[in-house]
Amino acid sequence: MRKKIIAGNWKMNKTPLEAVTFAKDLKAKLSGSSGPAGGSVPAGSSGPTGGSGPEVVFCVPFVSLIPVIEALEGSNIAVGAQNMHAEDSGAFTGEISAEMLTSIGVSHVIIGHSERREYFAETDASVNKKVLKAIAAGLAPIVCVGETLTQREQGITIDLVRMQVRIALGGVPASDARGLVIAYEPIWAIGTGRAATKDDAQEVCRAIRQIVRELYDEETAQALRVQYGGSVNAKNAAELFNMPDIDGGLVGGASIKPEFESIVKGA
Ligand code: PEP
Repeated sequence: MRKKIIAGNWKMNKTPLEAVTFAKDLKAKLSGSSGPAGGSVPAGSSGPTGGSGPEVVFCVPFVSLIPVIEALEGSNIAVGAQNMHAEDSGAFTGEISAEMLTSIGVSHVIIGHSERREYFAETDASVNKKVLKAIAAGLAPIVCVGETLTQREQGITIDLVRMQVRIALGGVPASDARGLVIAYEPIWAIGTGRAATKDDAQEVCRAIRQIVRELYDEETAQALRVQYGGSVNAKNAAELFNMPDIDGGLVGGASIKPEFESIVKGA
């Protein structure tokens, strides 16, 4: 049985002070509702620290990572970054390495979000480099894939997503692929208020699991977690997350609102 994972992508929102206030509030409201990190867990397991709910991750801006990690101490809520560089160190002004993230207690990192692909020229190849580096550093990558509206209308969604997954996972051994999270995020659904239907989301998430099965094996396909992201809110979260191949969500706008509590509790 795969443990659900709900990650909040705060994007470029909240000052460190605002971030800490919000994180502390959610920590209090979610105490007992969020489970410890872990990919596949035995059926019925509530984990060593007692949380039986989904794994919860706050992916916050770089400057808020340390204060939010401190604010969430003693909870099961993990903290992730929204990006990282693929190199260890060097002349990459403005960038942050995987080791810098792990050194302060960051456990997850979003890689290849569509906004990074669109505004910062990230490609499937650079996503693959980052995935390999994140894994080597001990970070859990949340790898984003998804199609534009035009691509959906052209009927090439599954082919495109298959290609994105295939390239992103190049060189990743099965043992590491089992711990990965792939977030299926149709670009037309991000920030638009127009989420995919549960059936459309399920169709693509199922195809993602199928490509993982073809690339690796059944065990890996069953262990790897696939999230849906794109206008998830308190009203649609439960029906999306109840689909057989959807193991939770990557939540943008609603993750910095009080309704994030309902989204986690609904999962
Ligand atoms: C996102 O940015 O990853 C996202 C899913 O955003 P939203 O939930 O606001 O659509």
